[in-house]
Amino acid sequence: MRVSARSIPTSMSKTSNSELEPAWKAWHSEESPITLGVSSCLLGQAVRYDGGHARDPFVDATLGKWVKWLPICPEVESGMSTPRPAIHLVQEDSSQTLVAKSTGEDFTERMQSYAQSKTEQLGALDGYVLKKGSPSCGLERIRVYRANGHVRSRDARGMFAKQLTDRWPLLPVEEDGRLNDPKLRENFIEQIFCRNRWRVLTQRGLTRGRLVEFHTAHKLILRAHDELGYQRLGKIVGELGTISDEQSFAQYEGEFHRALKILASRKAHTNVLQHAMGYLKELLETREKQQLLGSIEDYRLGLIPLVVPVTLLRHTISRHEIEYLQNQIYFSPHPKELMLRNHV
Ligand code: SF4
Repeated sequence: MRVSARSIPTSMSKTSNSELEPAWKAWHSEESPITLGVSSCLLGQAVRYDGGHARDPFVDATLGKWVKWLPICPEVESGMSTPRPAIHLVQEDSSQTLVAKSTGEDFTERMQSYAQSKTEQLGALDGYVLKKGSPSCGLERIRVYRANGHVRSRDARGMFAKQLTDRWPLLPVEEDGRLNDPKLRENFIEQIFCRNRWRVLTQRGLTRGRLVEFHTAHKLILRAHDELGYQRLGKIVGELGTISDEQSFAQYEGEFHRALKILASRKAHTNVLQHAMGYLKELLETREKQQLLGSIEDYRLGLIPLVVPVTLLRHTISRHEIEYLQNQIYFSPHPKELMLRNHV
């Protein structure tokens, strides 16, 4: 697998060891950094049809500090030159083609055969960031033209992106534009960190005991995303040993990734926070309890960001050493430097 020269900086491991919660230290590994595929032009590589790039500062500079990139330009890697004529998707009957606007040259076969063989190699990624609007890389709302040049629809997926998402439907995938939405950004980053923890778990050797431990640490984060999915996962774990471990692990993996794809709502976060409060109620003075309940209520009403009650709870949990909650990934699912959970 070809990866960018840039890798996780050594400062990550220092930061991780000194500042992150115990849950972090236990589940990530410096040997298996979070690895994401990315449309090369988003990192500033001059691979676009006009010889330019489309560097995205959040992707390149902010997220880039925490992940290892696998930059891919499907157009260049399938044999197109830079610069090159702009291409677009064309459809008259049931099949789409990828055609140069100015010359009519048809790149469909080259792109499809490249995409098929390339995406086969990408199952070990933790996620993928695609370039919006591209007939090759775009995730959604790509224009499709008729042969006469008129727009036929605006709801297609780029040809490479379609092959990628069809081949790996559970892979966390986002595009640069959607990552500007704080909720989508948060959800994507939670997914890539969770997927990396799963990958590390399987690399270390998955056993029934380790699966129980993993599931226990992810209970609250799963409940924030998908209560029903969380219950299905609990059933898989509860029934370990009744079918082959291989089947149980495969079922768990599928349900785990499916659950995390669901956007965590304010209502679900509120439920999780109130549930966590249940472990603390007997231990807190009235005033402290009121402060915590007040911040959860303010969050529920949309007056303060999620980071406020989560931080208050984390400090309280740490002071009272509630082991079950201290080990919950939910309270520190990603580096605080990414400034997530800060929106209302
Ligand atoms: S959008 Fe995709 S195909 Fe187009 S230049 Fe960027 S990486 Fe290459």
